[in-house]
Amino acid sequence: MTNLNATHDPSLRSWVASANAADIDFPIQNLPFGRFRRAGTSEPLRIGVAIGDQVLDLLATGLIDGYDMNALMAASPQERRALRAAISAGLAAGSANQPAWQAALIAQSFAEMALPCTIGDYTDFYTGIHHATTVGKLFRPDNPLLPNYKWVPIGYHGRGSSIGVSGQTFRRPMGQLKGAGDEPVLGLSQRVDYELELGILIGPGNARGEPIAIEHAEEHLFGVCLLNDWSARDLQAWEYQPLGPFLAKNFATTVSPWVVTLEALAPYRSAFTRPADDPQPLPYLDSATNRSEGAFDISLSVWLQTAKMRAAGEAAVMLSKSNVAESAYWTLAQLVTHHTVNGCNLQPGDLFGSGTLSGPRPEQGGSLLELSLGGRHTVKLPNGEERTFMQDGDTLVLRGHCERSGAARIGLGEVSGTLLA
Ligand code: MN
Repeated sequence: MTNLNATHDPSLRSWVASANAADIDFPIQNLPFGRFRRAGTSEPLRIGVAIGDQVLDLLATGLIDGYDMNALMAASPQERRALRAAISAGLAAGSANQPAWQAALIAQSFAEMALPCTIGDYTDFYTGIHHATTVGKLFRPDNPLLPNYKWVPIGYHGRGSSIGVSGQTFRRPMGQLKGAGDEPVLGLSQRVDYELELGILIGPGNARGEPIAIEHAEEHLFGVCLLNDWSARDLQAWEYQPLGPFLAKNFATTVSPWVVTLEALAPYRSAFTRPADDPQPLPYLDSATNRSEGAFDISLSVWLQTAKMRAAGEAAVMLSKSNVAESAYWTLAQLVTHHTVNGCNLQPGDLFGSGTLSGPRPEQGGSLLELSLGGRHTVKLPNGEERTFMQDGDTLVLRGHCERSGAARIGLGEVSGTLLA
């Protein structure tokens, strides 16, 4: 495994006591970036690093001199690794920085988180092959995957303006609904759904006209977060041909506030393999490194808390779980290379959605469309409630973490969003 260094050492401890607890998302080996301000103030957003249950204010440490996360994301991988090493050393138990940095901590419970950066362009991919197969079967039982799926990373350009950070709420969207009759009606979507996705944030960009070769693709990746690609299935079914999703997807997209960097993910890499009878990637989407360690072993889960559960003080219940490496047909590097092969320029702060990362088994569906088999089957909740699609007041939470022997457990935190009436 390449690129492991002292910052990944599982025995490393922090002088921030909460960072040393078992099974937490933000031990000293993680160090994800986000933007925050003190809750209830209108202070400018500052760049922070999550450590235990605290946020380290990077400006106050003197390690950075500004407020611009996109500028930080544009830094080279070498600069990023140096910053990570300095943060790790300063937070490590016994560091001489402790007295000064103590004053740079703020409890996460007193911090208001914002979108991690100014998001430029948003592209939503469709790399979840089990999702694509299940959803394809609902429409085309004999031919679930279209012929291009195993050759080209399918994607479409999404909308940035409606992307919000965890805690986002949105009203049930209106749109054209097509029932059994010939003509559609304007009405409220009856099939609001979520999609379990990884958000991928671009670091350094490329000049227009200059594709990014797969050998260099990861130098352009800043890190990952969780992403819920809210979808109105009834709007989608009527509008999606021939140009793809439009109003079914652009009313809200929610991301988690903490970006786990590619450096932090180094211990959890996996080989990227294709079944023997599947086409192998075209040469521009193939490299030895991509084959040996291009995938990421990230566990994901979906949780639902209904309004009734919330009123009764009941915690969210898990609907499904899956793993990125088992679910994604293409690696992050392949997405960057494919996106730029025509000369398209990526910029720091651009966001990719991975596509819905459902696992191979039916109970691992990453959307209600899959868990309810297109609305034909009800999902039963422990309190007796049932769901085919989202109901008003439902809060949906996505979580993710990495765990591997010989490495610390790190988490992506969570992304939560609530459907309002
Ligand atoms: Mn999607």
